[in-house]
Amino acid sequence: MENEIQRAEKLHVISELAASIAHEVRNPLTVARGFIQLTSRSLDESNQKYMNIAISELDRAEYIISDYLNLAKPQSEKIEPLHIAEMFENILDILSSFAMIRNVEIYSESEPDLWILGDKVKCKQALINLIKNSIESIEKRGRIDVQAKRKGNQVIIHVIDTGSGMTKEQVARLGYPFYTTKEKGTGLGLMVTFRLIESLGGKLEFESELGKGTTAIISIPLFMPAQEISKFS
Ligand code: ADP
Ligand code: MG
Repeated sequence: MENEIQRAEKLHVISELAASIAHEVRNPLTVARGFIQLTSRSLDESNQKYMNIAISELDRAEYIISDYLNLAKPQSEKIEPLHIAEMFENILDILSSFAMIRNVEIYSESEPDLWILGDKVKCKQALINLIKNSIESIEKRGRIDVQAKRKGNQVIIHVIDTGSGMTKEQVARLGYPFYTTKEKGTGLGLMVTFRLIESLGGKLEFESELGKGTTAIISIPLFMPAQEISKFS
């Protein structure tokens, strides 16, 4: 069995490599897509159909690359205090139509003055990946609760769903590249999410029960604005 350090190291190497390749591969894909689109205008219907398949496959490649690229964009990173309740609201707005289509209700709840330090885009991406998985795990209708509370000098975020749940073996595979049980999954979402949360100095864990649902638990260091710290000293 590989230990956690070996696993983290492996993921690190894979994602560094992937990010550098991703940059290089994206341009030729874009060029190829452009020319296919241009040429297909002059084709008959059945050939156009093949071109459309080619385009949608290129789009899928682009989609996979985007998942990877989100891993390593240090140049665009901006570390700032982030207000948890505000971030929750923002994310729920982004996901509301996706949730509605799938008959999922999402509720969020946060203690009022919770702040963390991090890059807003990365933080949102991590939470969105988790909540999206929760939405996708719900078959007919269900509910997701996103909660944040303070525990000592940590912020604990729970994403609780009433979805399919997982076996212990499945939980153990979370975060491994290309592990997916979905027809159109990339198996990259959680790998990215583990990395993003690590980069915030945090930790991600899962509790799950088959047929009942899953809880993702994030712990991240609490950020205290200066005036808050002075209250204690
Ligand atoms: P993808 O969503 O593309 O499949 P992820 O890395 O996001 O890739 O997730 C990997 C796999 O982990 C999913 O295919 C699914 O089997 C499982 N999974 C993740 N989150 C949940 C969840 N909340 N409930 C049930 N299964 C989950
Ligand atoms: Mg996913």
